[in-house]
Amino acid sequence: MPGISIVMENGSDQPMKPLFLIICYIAAVTLPLILSWLVGGPPRAFHQELASGLGILAFAMILMEFVLSGRFKNVSNDIGMDVTMRFHQMMARVALAFALLHPFLYRSTPVGGPRPWDPTRQLVITTDISDLSSGIAAYLLLPSLVLLAIGRTKLDYKYETWRLMHGIGALLIAALLLHHTVYAGRYGSQPVMTGVWLAMTAVSVGSLCYVYLLAPLRDKTRGWRVTSVKQVTPKQWELTVAPDGHSGLDYRAGQFVWLNVGHDSFSMKENPFSIASAPAAGPEVSFMIKEFGDFTRTVGQIKPDTVAYLDGPYGSLSVEGRSEPGIALIAGGVGLAPVLGILRQLRLTHDPRKVKLVYGNRSVDQIAYREELGQENVTLVLSDPPEDWQGETGFVDGALLDRVFSPQEFKEWVFVVCGPPIMMDLVEDHLLKRDTPSDRILSERFSYD
Ligand SMILES: Cc1cc2nc3c(=O)[nH]c(=O)nc-3n(C[C@H](O)[C@H](O)[C@H](O)COP(=O)(O)OP(=O)(O)OC[C@H]3O[C@@H](n4cnc5c(N)ncnc54)[C@H](O)[C@@H]3O)c2cc1C
Repeated sequence: MPGISIVMENGSDQPMKPLFLIICYIAAVTLPLILSWLVGGPPRAFHQELASGLGILAFAMILMEFVLSGRFKNVSNDIGMDVTMRFHQMMARVALAFALLHPFLYRSTPVGGPRPWDPTRQLVITTDISDLSSGIAAYLLLPSLVLLAIGRTKLDYKYETWRLMHGIGALLIAALLLHHTVYAGRYGSQPVMTGVWLAMTAVSVGSLCYVYLLAPLRDKTRGWRVTSVKQVTPKQWELTVAPDGHSGLDYRAGQFVWLNVGHDSFSMKENPFSIASAPAAGPEVSFMIKEFGDFTRTVGQIKPDTVAYLDGPYGSLSVEGRSEPGIALIAGGVGLAPVLGILRQLRLTHDPRKVKLVYGNRSVDQIAYREELGQENVTLVLSDPPEDWQGETGFVDGALLDRVFSPQEFKEWVFVVCGPPIMMDLVEDHLLKRDTPSDRILSERFSYD
């Protein structure tokens, strides 16, 4: 299970414990349902209540999806961004199923316009097209939004375009559902519930406004400047930025930020990157970036002094304040970035804990920062080694881990893992097999798909 952490962050961004978060989530999605039940109305057939209940739950879950967008430190910093995003994806599917099912359960209910003697719609469900049209529009839009998100990687459009469409689509659905719930809903039409739905929608839409309007406005006064761009391997770059007229970023080694280089702070052209530098090294922040797509392939062309904006720090990949006697750092490819930040911090602060690094790559020219990493307690692994290769060969798998770590180290150390999904799956499974407690496995995935 990735992204598991028991570390608490200090200060105003202190993340909440996972159990507390789950309770908050359940409370938020069930609140309208419970209130609707309390507000009540004359009894109806069970299938009608179920239909309304599913609709209410679906709308509440859809509103909560805004908060689960991954940009709220209090939500994602303790459970991990990857877990937050997977939960967001899973709940979207559940909400979709509830929403699609809900109108069909009104079966055998008499239909017709609102009757003056039946304000709570006990006897009929509305067929007034103006009330239903918003629901029908949302009914068509919602599956499109979810399907486009599921099939995003197979469709040939830019990530930024998809993100914009996803945000606008979600806003539209929230507005349509608010109208539908208030005008066509048996419970939503009651003043208390109208107030509840309005408040919940305002919070959700407000959270989006915070991410795309207020946070960029705040960041505008905290710009950064690119100080250097260096090639570290044929396809990996080191990009360093320095604060422009402010004190910099308060972060822990291993965390990540959303980086925007060369665009306005309001631009959607920003990408998540782990910080490869150590806070103890000073205010400059550096990144290790692998060429992958639109932005990353152009990193080599970025000129010094270009303006940049950093939104963060995010993430829970940190060994700060932990009590284990040793730290195992396991990286594959560009997954070295956060691991390097942690290693640098441990070395700069003369941390007394034992450290072992396992770093896997395909070929020798992909090994980044080889000299800086040194040789002591460093295991370099190549799957496609040259003939004179002295290090380990193959993949970073269970057999390799058994050669590097003792049974006691598996049980007592904290393991930090970052790399390609297949490597992470192998490592996490093996650690659990070797009785490493799950709260001692810290991991960050670079992809949510
Ligand atoms: C927490 C985290 C930390 C990361 N750290 C590093 C790192 O240290 N070094 C590194 O080289 N890569 C890192 N990545 C991966 C990096 O974000 C992507 O490779 C990069 O965004 C690709 O952008 P692109 O424009 O080059 O490619 P595109 O073709 O635009 O995108 C390729 C894929 O990258 C992902 N992606 C692109 N933009 C975003 C975005 N704004 N938000 C989320 N995902 C996006 C999507 O899955 C997309 O399909 C990290 C990813 C995450 C989630």
